[in-house]
Amino acid sequence: MASLRFKVVKEAFQKRPVEMAAPKVRPSEFFAKYVFNKQKMFKYLPLKVYKKMVDVIENGAPLDRTIADEVAQGMKTWAMELGVTHCTHWFQPLTEGTAEKHDSFMEHDWKGGMVEDFSGKELVQQEPDASSFPSGGIRSTFEARGYSAWDPTSPVFVIGDTLMIPTVFVSYTGEALDYKVPLKKALAAVNKAGTAVAKYFDPNVTKVTANLGWEQEYFLVDEDLYAARPDLVLTGRTLMGHNSAKNQQMDDHYFGSIPERVAAFMRDLEIQALELGIPCKTRHNEVAPNQFEIAPIFEECNLAVDHNMLLMSLMKKIARKHGFRCLLHEKPFDGINGSGKHNNWSLTTDTGVLLHAPGKDAASNLRFATFIVETLMGVYKHNGLLKASIMSATNAHRLGANEAPPAIISSFLGSQVSGLLDHIEKNDTEDILKVSGKKGYKLDIPQIPELMIDNTDRNRTSPFAFTGNRFEFRAVGSEANCASAMIALNTAVAEALTNFKTRVDERIKKGENKEAAILSVLREDIKTCKPIHFDGNGYSDEWQKEAAKRGLDCEKSCPLIFDNYLSEESIKMFHDMKVMEKNELEARNEIKWETYTKKIQIEARVFGDLATNHIIPMATRYQSALIDNVTKMKSIFGDKADKLNANNIAIIEKIAEHNAFIAENVAKMIEARKVANKIEDEREKAIAYHDQVEPYMESVRVHIDKLEEIVEDEMWSLPKYREMLFIR
Ligand code: ADP
Ligand code: MG
Repeated sequence: MASLRFKVVKEAFQKRPVEMAAPKVRPSEFFAKYVFNKQKMFKYLPLKVYKKMVDVIENGAPLDRTIADEVAQGMKTWAMELGVTHCTHWFQPLTEGTAEKHDSFMEHDWKGGMVEDFSGKELVQQEPDASSFPSGGIRSTFEARGYSAWDPTSPVFVIGDTLMIPTVFVSYTGEALDYKVPLKKALAAVNKAGTAVAKYFDPNVTKVTANLGWEQEYFLVDEDLYAARPDLVLTGRTLMGHNSAKNQQMDDHYFGSIPERVAAFMRDLEIQALELGIPCKTRHNEVAPNQFEIAPIFEECNLAVDHNMLLMSLMKKIARKHGFRCLLHEKPFDGINGSGKHNNWSLTTDTGVLLHAPGKDAASNLRFATFIVETLMGVYKHNGLLKASIMSATNAHRLGANEAPPAIISSFLGSQVSGLLDHIEKNDTEDILKVSGKKGYKLDIPQIPELMIDNTDRNRTSPFAFTGNRFEFRAVGSEANCASAMIALNTAVAEALTNFKTRVDERIKKGENKEAAILSVLREDIKTCKPIHFDGNGYSDEWQKEAAKRGLDCEKSCPLIFDNYLSEESIKMFHDMKVMEKNELEARNEIKWETYTKKIQIEARVFGDLATNHIIPMATRYQSALIDNVTKMKSIFGDKADKLNANNIAIIEKIAEHNAFIAENVAKMIEARKVANKIEDEREKAIAYHDQVEPYMESVRVHIDKLEEIVEDEMWSLPKYREMLFIR
């Protein structure tokens, strides 16, 4: 009996890349084909409406509802030319992913027929019956009204037969029920505070924009192998599985040549993403086998967040077309790298860049230092909150492990920027503002041009690293909505810049000149935020001790890390920056704890099922075969058989021991769950799941993985790591 697993593996192995015709036009010609961008607005809207829309999008002018009908008409005409029949508000509730509810354009014509219609009212506002979206108690289930409202700063797009309208989602009483409302408020806060500070250096600045360039990591697994792993299907990760003998130790996957079936998937994905206006730029193999990355060119933060959400749903859809499943979970496989989503973040003004590597002129260096130091101040003061913003039941598997950023937020600056800050701190005025720009570096190969070396060294272990013209927030999880991290970061920086300005202005009022006042405040802040600055190895044990000494947040338990949202400093910051009120933060935390509990609960159930009805029966079947063999040997060889049977008897015993451990501890885990389930308080329940339930999965897994090692390969029904990770 060849096992079903062997059959599935063989078929997966023989799959060929999906053939695709090369696009007949260049990417620049189909870029944003399905997006109602400015170009389309210009074509489909009356000129005065077009101008008004540009003012709304670019200058944040209030949206005049009287133009909504005309905008809707233009959109409808454009969309119907693409064969669109439906529209939906597209929003980001506090679950994972996005939500949509489609309505067709059809209306009665009141002459017995139907007519396609799309009014400004439908564009601007919808009232989805939102009672089953999580609200953490803000909107109790009998008050089902929540509104989705059009966000004109993120353009409308078309997927299939549907016009997708990016919206924000708020409760009847005005509280945010999504990621977008606080994100937009955080961006407004950093714009306001940033502009005020940028004006010290250039009075013409009218706007500061936060940019986000994310790098999305993911795994691809053959769909048939995936289907044979209930844990992957239900939890997004493997809850058990013995390590593959070969995994990433040869360093041969990173930047390796892209396997053909994967390349076809990537090409398909990029074309569809480009058509939706996502400016895809980079693709490559990642460190772990079957792990890959896609990154676009950075964009304004709000739009970049939408584009990431859109891309994640495209990835899942297109992977299936190519016979893959796309895993966005932060840690689908034990023992090899997990997936992150680096968030490259920077601030720019309408007149230039703010975080650009230091140049030759003193004024721009002072501006540079100001924005670097105040970013650090925000990150320092709210390091616990920033960690909470990227923490989840799934990302917890990645943080703290020795491969991804540690569960402590710190910032890497590199030698040049560190040098600049040291100079300022030590009042070394002569030198303060002279930091060279990019250094040329000569290779002794005449045909190769001079290389420009970035002002920063590379440090892959830092969760928040300065990389030349931006900070790279590396702790963000691959599955996460970037908005969560961006809300915390932009608000923290907005608060730091606001405080900075207040103190500088006080000094100026007292008669200090502007530059001196700025330098004095910077000097204070450089001293204050020193604990967050760490250029060393973030994975080392010494750093864990050192960080605790410096007073940085070193908590590792996910439910406790969420407490940071409700600390006095966080509540004050979100309130002062007008991003969220305390009741909203409380409601969101309820959802975070509840989500955490549910995730672990589902994992524990799947784990218990698999252990009980896959693992123990498989091992027992093999054990029975061995027992059968041993007794038959005995009947042939008599006493002589004892020696001959020794190995098999040892295996029989080992299986019995593993099975007993598994059965006993799965039963204990179920008991622990029952106790936890009775706890009413969401925080306490999440803590119980973390402390009392999850550890059983870890300890039992060891025994299951041992069984995988000894049970006959053909009897093992679950696809193995070596198959899921190397078939592509
Ligand atoms: P890495 O070497 O870190 O893997 P990638 O090329 O994969 O770099 O991705 C870098 C990301 O950073 C891209 O999305 C890129 O557009 C973005 N980026 C570059 N400059 C900035 C900037 N000033 N602000 C924000 N993001 C930026
Ligand atoms: Mg990258």
